[in-house]
Amino acid sequence: MRNIFRPFALAGMLLAAAGSATAQSAAATSSKTDSLNIRKLYDEALLRGQSYANLRDLCTRIGGRLSGSPQAEQAVQWGKTEMEKIGLDRVYLQEVMVPHWVRGAKERARATGAKGKGIDFNVCALGGSVGTNGKLKAQVVEVKSMAELAALPADKVKGKIVFFNRPMNPAYVETGRAYGEAGDQRRSGASEAAKRGAIGALVRSLSLAHDDYPHTGTMRYEDGVTQVPAAALSTNGADQLSQLLKADSDLTFELEMACQTLPDVKSYNVVGEIRGSKYPDEIITVGGHLDSWDLAQGAHDDGTGCVQSMEVLRLLKATGLKPERTVRAVLFMNEENGVRGGNKYAEVAKSANEKHLAAMESDGGGFTPRGFNIEADAATVRKVQRWQPLLQPYGSAEFNAGHAGTDIGPLKGQAKALIGFDCDSQRYFDIHHAATDTFDKVNRRELELGGASMAALVYLLSKYGL
Ligand SMILES: [Zn+2]
Repeated sequence: MRNIFRPFALAGMLLAAAGSATAQSAAATSSKTDSLNIRKLYDEALLRGQSYANLRDLCTRIGGRLSGSPQAEQAVQWGKTEMEKIGLDRVYLQEVMVPHWVRGAKERARATGAKGKGIDFNVCALGGSVGTNGKLKAQVVEVKSMAELAALPADKVKGKIVFFNRPMNPAYVETGRAYGEAGDQRRSGASEAAKRGAIGALVRSLSLAHDDYPHTGTMRYEDGVTQVPAAALSTNGADQLSQLLKADSDLTFELEMACQTLPDVKSYNVVGEIRGSKYPDEIITVGGHLDSWDLAQGAHDDGTGCVQSMEVLRLLKATGLKPERTVRAVLFMNEENGVRGGNKYAEVAKSANEKHLAAMESDGGGFTPRGFNIEADAATVRKVQRWQPLLQPYGSAEFNAGHAGTDIGPLKGQAKALIGFDCDSQRYFDIHHAATDTFDKVNRRELELGGASMAALVYLLSKYGL
C-alpha cells in the first residue's frame, strides 16, 4: 500500500540528477516546494472538491447530450456558468457547426424461426446510421471478421443482414486495446456488408460485460457505397442470436429504426482561462468532451473529464498557486460523432498563431488514476517523466509514451506534448456508450484523485515549461 501522506520522501529521489552541491540544494528546495504545493492541490480536491457536485448537476439535470440536441445546448450554458463561478480571467464560447443525428423512436428487433416463434432483442442504432424506413426483414449471416465476410460466397451475403460477432479480446489487460481491435465491426461493418450486397448490419456491442445493454457509438459510411442500417446488439443478445442461428440458420430478423441525420447545428466549445503570470503567451490546455451519446447521462464518457478539467482551474485558484503559463480548460463539443470541436479549437489556435505548450485530455472515465500517456518526441517524454516521483505518493506515476486523446489530437504538431490522463480501464467499456453510463457509477474519491493528479501535472508544466 502506498502512503500518500509523506510527500517529503521524494526530495531525495530527485537529487541524483543534480550535479554540484549548490545545484543539489536548489533542486532539493524546488522539489520540496513542488511536493508541498502538490499536496495542497490534493488536499483542496479531497477536502473541498467541487467536481462530484458538478458532475451530479450535469448528469442528472441535463443528462445525455448528443451534439445538436437541446441538452447539448443546455450543457454549453451550464459549462459557461460553472466556469464563471470559479472566477477566471476569461470565459468564452467558441462557435462550431456540429452534425445533428437523432435516434427517433426506440428501436425494435425480433428474430423469428421456422416454427414461427419470435424472440425480441434489445438493440440500438449505431450513431450515424440511416433508419430502416419501415421494417427491415431478412435472414442473418454471422461473421467474426472482415476477412470472413470477404471470403463468403456472394449468395450467402446478398439481401441478408450481416451479424458481426467478434467479442473484445478479454485476454488483454489494457481494455482500450481490445476496444480498438474490435472496433472495425462497428465503424465500417455496415459499408463492408453493403459492398457484398447485404441490406443491414448487426454488431456485437463493444463491451467486456455480459449483459443486456446495447452500446452505441459512431459508424461511418464509405463514399459511393449503399447506406444500410446498422444496429448494436447487447453482448448477451449477440450470444443468443448466435445460438439461434446455429439451430436455425434460416431465421428471419426484423429491425425497425427511425434514426436520421438532420442539417448541421451551431454549437460551441466552452473555454475558461487563467492567464499566466510570467509567460501568458504559452498555453496549456486541459479538457474533456461535453457532448455524450444519448442513451445515458454521459457520466464516465465524458462528464468526468469535463468536471475534472474545470476542477484543475478551481484547484489552482483555491490554493493560490498562480500558474506562470496560461492554463485553459476546454469543454470540447462533438467528440463522439465528428470531433468538430477539437478540430475547431486547433484551427483557431493555428490561425491566431497561439503558442501551445501542452494539451491534456481526460476521456477514459473517472476511475482510479494511474498516470499519464504522453504523445511527444522522445526528449519531451523524458522531460515529463522526470516529474514521476512527485506523483508517486498519489499512485498516479505511470508516465508512458502513448495515445493522448481525440479532442486534443488535432493540436499535434502545434503543442509540444499531448497528454492523456490515464486511469484504471477495467470497468470503462462495461458502460461506455450504453444506458448504464450514469452518475451512480462514478466514485467520488476516484474522480477527485484524478482531477488532483491532472492539476499537479498542469502546475508543473506551468512552472517549468517543456
Ligand atoms: Zn469520450
